[in-house]
Amino acid sequence: MLGTLELAQELISRRSLTPDDGGCQDLLASRLSAAGFQCEFITCGSVSNLWARRGNARPLLCFAGHTDVVPTGPLAEWLSDPFTPTLRDGRLYGRGAADMKSSIAAFVVAVEAFARERPTHEGSIALLLTSDEEGPSVDGTVRVVERLKARGETLDYCIVGEPSSAKTLGDTVRVGRRGSLSARLTIRGVQGHVAYPEQVKNPLHLLAPALAEIVATSWDAGNEFFPPTSFQVSNLNAGTGAENVVPGSVEILCNFRFSTASSETSLKERFAAVLRKHKLDYSLAWTLGGKPFLSKPGKLTAAVQRSVQAQTGLLPELSTAGGTSDGRFLIDICPEIVELGPVNASIHKLNEHIELAAFETLPRIYLDILRSLLP
Ligand SMILES: [Zn+2]
Repeated sequence: MLGTLELAQELISRRSLTPDDGGCQDLLASRLSAAGFQCEFITCGSVSNLWARRGNARPLLCFAGHTDVVPTGPLAEWLSDPFTPTLRDGRLYGRGAADMKSSIAAFVVAVEAFARERPTHEGSIALLLTSDEEGPSVDGTVRVVERLKARGETLDYCIVGEPSSAKTLGDTVRVGRRGSLSARLTIRGVQGHVAYPEQVKNPLHLLAPALAEIVATSWDAGNEFFPPTSFQVSNLNAGTGAENVVPGSVEILCNFRFSTASSETSLKERFAAVLRKHKLDYSLAWTLGGKPFLSKPGKLTAAVQRSVQAQTGLLPELSTAGGTSDGRFLIDICPEIVELGPVNASIHKLNEHIELAAFETLPRIYLDILRSLLP
């Protein structure tokens, strides 16, 4: 659609390495204000966030994404400068071309076209943009979600523009992600000489049967959208280095990648129950890396499938693969989230690029979804 490629080029030329937004959000806010959006900047430390909303009614359809990009890697291995958007062989090259400045350009062009076409549309449209998705993700989407939650502003549908497609635009959309839960477990024993077993309590010997039971546990069977929850030990540390000393304690680091068939609470309880059953003297510290989320297929998913099929001829696969995304924060205030964006084959790589055809198709898909959800 007209103007999408040009806007993507303007965004790529703004160097925005996390958490620097490089002036992208100012440019976007001026476009959105002209299209009737109320723009609110939510700055947290060095992170820029933009919340832009058009209308006050429900339902609220939000487009979410990030203006920050990952570092370029060795410049000499780029065929053209990563911050000089370059057209070559039917593609646009530049850092952020696929992840995810082209999606943002497509969001803006689609909402502008929709606002012209239906100036008094039902419901509301919002854009939520952050410059802290590729980094620690501490002062980005999560802060905006907190702000919205505090004032009771909830979303009904959210489209995240992450590059979800595998080979062809629209072949895959994400409707969820697995959760990540890590633990640091310390088992205490009594240190002493290996020759005096009656005077020691070997924490490794105490841990072994409990660990065997944990490793053999089936945490859940997964469900229609997720594989079963998996558990892995990544580190095990004990011992003084001497072969005649029983260590006083052992520490393991481990991680669950979990489906929505389990919860953070249920995994923590079941894990601790095994430790108690084996009568271990332990301490346990948990870190939740990300909640799993599964967006229950509803009106948004149906609209996405219809629009992608109409524009590309493909019926997208509903997937929960991949690492974490800001969907894990948005699920707190939005029941239905779909990640829909360009092909991800070159993201975070040298010579990142996007097929030029996407500048026609992607904004059309987003526009189609707006038409079906906000009549
Ligand atoms: Zn991304």
